[in-house]
Amino acid sequence: MSKKTTVYEDEERKKEERIQKRKAQIEKHLVTCPHCGERVLDHLTKCPKCGGVLTPRGYTPMDPKKERLFKTIGWVIGILGVIAVIVLAIVLN
Ligand SMILES: [Zn+2]
Repeated sequence: MSKKTTVYEDEERKKEERIQKRKAQIEKHLVTCPHCGERVLDHLTKCPKCGGVLTPRGYTPMDPKKERLFKTIGWVIGILGVIAVIVLAIVLN
C-alpha cells in the first residue's frame, strides 16, 4: 500500500467522523412526539406531523420571584434613563 492511499483513507475516515458528529448533533435536538412518536426538533411547540402540542426542551416557566426581580431591574434602568435625560436637558440648557 502506498502512503497516498493511507492519506486518502484517513480523509475518508475523517469525513465519516464529521458526518457522524453532525448526525449526533442533530439527534441531540430531536425529541419523540408524545402524540405520534415522530422524531421532531426540540424547539418546536407543535408537532409538524400530528399537530400535537409539544413542550420545547429548555422551556421552563420563569420563576415568579426572578420575573419580579427582572421587572424591577427594568424599571430601575428605565427610571435612571429618564433621570439621565432630564439631567442632560437641564445641564445642556
Ligand atoms: Zn406528533
